[in-house]
Amino acid sequence: MSAPDLTGREIAAAVRVLRSGRLSLGPTIPAFEKAFAKYVGARHAVAVSSGTAALHLALVAAGVAEGDFVITSPFSFVASANCILFRRATPIFVDVDLATANLDVRRVEQALDDLATGKRGPLPPRLRRGRREARVKAVLPVHVFGRPIDMTSLMAVARARDLVVIEDACEAVGAEWNGRRVGTFGEMGCFGFYPNKPMTTGEGGMIVTGDEAAAMLCRSLRNQGRDDADPSRFARLGYNYRLSEMAAAIGTVQVARLGAIQTKRARVVRWYEERLANVAGITCPEPLPSCARASWFTFVVHFEDSLAREIAIGRLRSAGIPSRVYFPTIPLQPIYVERFGYRPGEFPNAERLSQTCLALPFSSRMSEGSVDRVCAALRSALRRRAAKVVGSPSPHVG
Ligand SMILES: *Cc1c(COP(=O)(O)O)cnc(C)c1O
Repeated sequence: MSAPDLTGREIAAAVRVLRSGRLSLGPTIPAFEKAFAKYVGARHAVAVSSGTAALHLALVAAGVAEGDFVITSPFSFVASANCILFRRATPIFVDVDLATANLDVRRVEQALDDLATGKRGPLPPRLRRGRREARVKAVLPVHVFGRPIDMTSLMAVARARDLVVIEDACEAVGAEWNGRRVGTFGEMGCFGFYPNKPMTTGEGGMIVTGDEAAAMLCRSLRNQGRDDADPSRFARLGYNYRLSEMAAAIGTVQVARLGAIQTKRARVVRWYEERLANVAGITCPEPLPSCARASWFTFVVHFEDSLAREIAIGRLRSAGIPSRVYFPTIPLQPIYVERFGYRPGEFPNAERLSQTCLALPFSSRMSEGSVDRVCAALRSALRRRAAKVVGSPSPHVG
């Protein structure tokens, strides 16, 4: 499905750390943080062990706690909502835009206005009958698949209501909105470096912020809550969310190479788009507005319905080609159903995308020939689908 883009430079950097004998809490972490902060255009960066850890600490630093509500997307990787549960806060899911798969800012505004006037519709089903005031503390937008959200509109909505904004930019390192890199619009931005992300450290993550106190707090929290001035004292409840020196060394090289990696990824996207643009039954990603630049995380196509997608998955599989269903709708996952009572139908756009989107194999190292093979298998699947629609009015999965 994906492959990390690593060179001899990353390998040499990791080996240098191994030979140094200093495998954690050494000089490589601050160097990585500095390079990353410079790249995204943030004042501070704090390296942590995963994107999930970054989100968790960002919510702690933002003061999100039990009793708070956080607006977020139902169509994302589950970690962006789970981190709200880590804080014993409550997610309020707002449906996404069908064309971009990102949070629909107008719906966010509508939900906030509804809640402000005492309407309980935007709350999870189980809380709609309650009387407790829903105190919305933060908005947690996700730049899904590396496509930036309209941050101008989202920040205006959040600023007008004094809400904290924490960007989940785990899939979107380097993506830009109006010439500014994502992760730097809100109070905090979070990144993940799992091997399928645009850049990798094996496992790893980063929090960026312009707020020095928040950065200091995250540094303490990632290292067991140690006191900033006296590391023998534990000032607060912290975690072990440290990144290793080897990972930081790899990350430092990856940041330096990120522009080149993204150029290659964008070229693979073009190859896909050229081959699939006129294939009936498949929709390629919506073109971006001129003020936006994506940082491609995956290449995701939409089918007309879930049956067409099933046929395509099967056809790809029998040609030895993997594909992934991205993403299952978060509020319909068992843990969210059990806690909040969600049922299908609440988030029509997210649910539709969950039923019709398919991520195709994608990496910077993919050749034009492999893109050809994937697209040929897809075209053949769609021909089979067309034959089935003609042949039988009540379709069965083949
Ligand atoms: C990958 C990802 C995360 C979590 O990152 P990990 O490093 O895997 O913990 C969070 N949010 C989104 C949208 C992601 O894609």
